[in-house]
Amino acid sequence: MSNLPYIVGNWKMNGTRSMLSEARAIDRSTQRFPGVQVAIAPPFTLINAMREASQMIGVGGQDCHVEASGAFTGDISAPMLRDAGADFVILGHSERRALHGETDELIRDKAEAAQAAGLGVIVCVGETDGERDAGNAESVVSAQLDGSLPRGENGADKLSVAYEPVWAIGTGRVASTDDISAMHSIIRGKLKDVYGEAGDEIRILYGGSVKGENAPEILAIDEVGGALVGGASLSAESFLSIVGAAA
Ligand code: PGA
Repeated sequence: MSNLPYIVGNWKMNGTRSMLSEARAIDRSTQRFPGVQVAIAPPFTLINAMREASQMIGVGGQDCHVEASGAFTGDISAPMLRDAGADFVILGHSERRALHGETDELIRDKAEAAQAAGLGVIVCVGETDGERDAGNAESVVSAQLDGSLPRGENGADKLSVAYEPVWAIGTGRVASTDDISAMHSIIRGKLKDVYGEAGDEIRILYGGSVKGENAPEILAIDEVGGALVGGASLSAESFLSIVGAAA
């Protein structure tokens, strides 16, 4: 498992072929930052083209099905992602949990299927503002980890966890450095409980309104091993300012 800072762009449902020029620019500039691992998860439709247009960056999916193939109209399997050139997949993003009713158990099954197909996995967790206001942020995130971390024999392999407070996603509100630090320590403790020593190697990313301006402060926090970036990953200029902050 690499211990380089890991900066991952999540393009969500954004991007047509014309946006591949941004990915190419990111890919070219990434050569200037050999100490940073950089990746983008575009929509499924761009995975193959992005893989072929780039050399340095990782390319990933934003979801996958549990099954490898079958009668699941509209779904994409982990082996299909791999075949299209993906290296990893983001699973359990709060938008999938909220808008597609994804449960922890389903996310765990997907994570195990993705690992079996040879993909790296980023499992996302995070509390809503209501849960934080009620003092339940820690218990919510702990329960999400208990339920959604892959438990196969090699569960810690190529695994990352992204802590993304739901109230910080796309809102411009960033969690305080103290809150990020406290939650990442809790996540680290849980990863060690689940995976033993291997839990020490798993990178814990922060996500939620990360931008070039706040990235240096966030990435300097102990136990922050990188960032999962939504809005600011859509332009090469803003994404590279975050990659530069990680270098
Ligand atoms: P944001 O999204 O950077 O636009 O807040 C982060 C995410 O949803 O992964």
